[in-house]
Amino acid sequence: MVWMTGYPREKVNWHPTIDPDKCVKCGMCMNCGQGVYDWTEEGARVGRPNKCVVGCSTCAHLCQGKAITFPNVEELREFYKKKEFGQRSKNN
Ligand code: SF4
Ligand code: SF4
Repeated sequence: MVWMTGYPREKVNWHPTIDPDKCVKCGMCMNCGQGVYDWTEEGARVGRPNKCVVGCSTCAHLCQGKAITFPNVEELREFYKKKEFGQRSKNN
């Protein structure tokens, strides 16, 4: 998958992680419209992490077990700065 800036999505570290011990099987994360999650007998599992929208964390806010975490958003911001996406889009 290629991200809208033309940068490969799989190189961007942004996806949910579920702590299975905290999952209470509420199913709220299954509302994700990107098809990131799969439902199993043990609850939700992350099946397609790179389909997660970069910067989105909606499912973590909805999660009743507080079982979902994401990478540090400051590291994501630093990643953007290093890649100079803003500069590139100004030049294009
Ligand atoms: S953060 Fe957003 S896009 Fe990513 S899995 Fe959760 S709801 Fe889906
Ligand atoms: S929202 Fe959280 S507690 Fe609910 S099924 Fe998903 S991971 Fe489990």
